[in-house]
Amino acid sequence: MGPHADCRKPVAKKDIRHHRPHFFEGEQSGRVRMKRSEKDIVVEQVPVGEFEVFTYFAACPQTRETVIIDPAGEPDRLVTMIREQGLKVKYILNTHGHADHVLANRPLREIFDAPTCMHQDDITFFSRDDVRAASLKEIGLPAPDPADRSIKDGDMLEVGTLKIRVIHTPGHTPGSVC
Ligand SMILES: [Zn+2]
Repeated sequence: MGPHADCRKPVAKKDIRHHRPHFFEGEQSGRVRMKRSEKDIVVEQVPVGEFEVFTYFAACPQTRETVIIDPAGEPDRLVTMIREQGLKVKYILNTHGHADHVLANRPLREIFDAPTCMHQDDITFFSRDDVRAASLKEIGLPAPDPADRSIKDGDMLEVGTLKIRVIHTPGHTPGSVC
């Protein structure tokens, strides 16, 4: 299974490279900002890389622990952002294993000593030789390394005071999750 149009939307280049979210200050900072409650959770959406795949942060304002969801590229920029905001990376979570969603997994994992998490079905799927070969051939990017931690439907990830529940949504890939 190759990359899909719905997760690789070409967008006109804007000055996203200068985008500097201010997670906790409450001012408008990004193109899209979702703040359910400043007390409970801070969610930031950051478009990264050539295809502007969205990387998400879900952070606990009390502890500044965060999960990074789909670190899709530009690791240096993400690292700077994380350090500027004083975030503590608890988990690196991939919604699925397509190569364009996992590009910054490895550097972030090493720098912040946080485990990568992926559904077991995608760990298995993207370990297959034919799938790995197809990834390289079709988009020139390697399929992900096996995740440190396998997650499944109903799992709860604790991030500070947040509890993030894994919902298995197969279709886009066998192990897609929300
Ligand atoms: Zn995809």
